Amino acid sequence: MSDAFLSHMRDTLAGIEAEGLMKTERLITSPQGTRVGVDGRELINLCANNYLGLADHPALVEAATEAMRDHGYGMASVRFICGTQDLHRELEQRLAAFLGTQDSILFAACFDANGALFEPLLGPEDAVISDALNHASIIDGIRLCKAKRYRYANSDMADLEAQLKAARADGARHIMIATDGVFSMDGYLAKLPEIRALADQYDALLMVDDCHATGFMGPKGEGTPAHCGVSADLLTGTLGKALGGALGGYIAGPQPVIDLLRQRARPYLFSNALPPAVVAAGLKALDLVEQGDDLRAQLFENSRYWRDGLTEIGFDLLEGEHPIIPVMLYDARKAQAMAQRLYELGVYVSGFFFPVVPKGRARIRTQMNAALTRADLDEALAAFDRAGRDTGVLT
Ligand SMILES: *Cc1c(COP(=O)(O)O)cnc(C)c1O
Repeated sequence: MSDAFLSHMRDTLAGIEAEGLMKTERLITSPQGTRVGVDGRELINLCANNYLGLADHPALVEAATEAMRDHGYGMASVRFICGTQDLHRELEQRLAAFLGTQDSILFAACFDANGALFEPLLGPEDAVISDALNHASIIDGIRLCKAKRYRYANSDMADLEAQLKAARADGARHIMIATDGVFSMDGYLAKLPEIRALADQYDALLMVDDCHATGFMGPKGEGTPAHCGVSADLLTGTLGKALGGALGGYIAGPQPVIDLLRQRARPYLFSNALPPAVVAAGLKALDLVEQGDDLRAQLFENSRYWRDGLTEIGFDLLEGEHPIIPVMLYDARKAQAMAQRLYELGVYVSGFFFPVVPKGRARIRTQMNAALTRADLDEALAAFDRAGRDTGVLT
């Protein structure tokens, strides 16, 4: 490799470092639980997407182990050649039944599901209207399709309507609105009742990426549409968050859409099938979610206790009903200092600052987990109190 190219890489890295934007990774030596081992210490973990505590659940480990024994380790094939086991179809049908759709199709990740969705379904005659804060994978998926693109300011319904009018005026054949169900930096829910009404008024389809909701939002954990009492035309989601936290994604929707995606979706046609252990654990996660009223109740009880505790100590939180609870520090350096002090005090959290959130909106994003005990939360609250004072955030 040429010196010029490598020195260009080094310069870019130096730029990232100089801006204070270098991300580093801590090495966790334990399962992903409410407490994790790092550097020989045990920390309370408040930054995993492990909403229902299934990532280290013995029933999922058992289901995965058993599946490896009777279905092997890897598939060594894409789905349509020789990579579809009985387990894959079982999980697709279970997901569809759970979400109330006709069928679903699995991908290696939701990043791939979102990368797969738009290109086969929409052509140059069509339009896609996307929320400005949508996940990177939706943005990339839309880039790959030939539909005309429109964007509306985050959750701005007047702007969404203006874009729908523009797409109709431009003569769009089909229009698809794409939104995250939950905007994960803030924990804010998409305004699905209003979006659904506008979609109906302008004869548009509604696609919702429900990665931060499936399994725990909605009466039975079906996600944000059920939580809001509306239906989405297409759903995407992940097995990598509440549903066990390993990996895997899906698109759920009407039969002809799923059938066409199986023929045309490039990340499905040209990438390996999920391994049986992951698929079987996904089925077990759905069992636990379907019987999961107690888990969901505990998750929201923990969220309420954590919010109340932080507010009482004097922290400034974003309002909300989701188990993502952002502690606002505004200043990037303060967010980093708080996260570092909390780490020393035995609490694992992550500071978020520009460019992940707007400048001046730095925060520590905390996330609740049904498996956190009252003692864990009290210990974490004491650490937040102390870290807040030590870093001058609380006075
Ligand atoms: C996490 C997430 C994804 C990516 O999911 P993976 O299965 O990890 O690829 C996509 N969209 C949203 C909204 C997410 O939060």
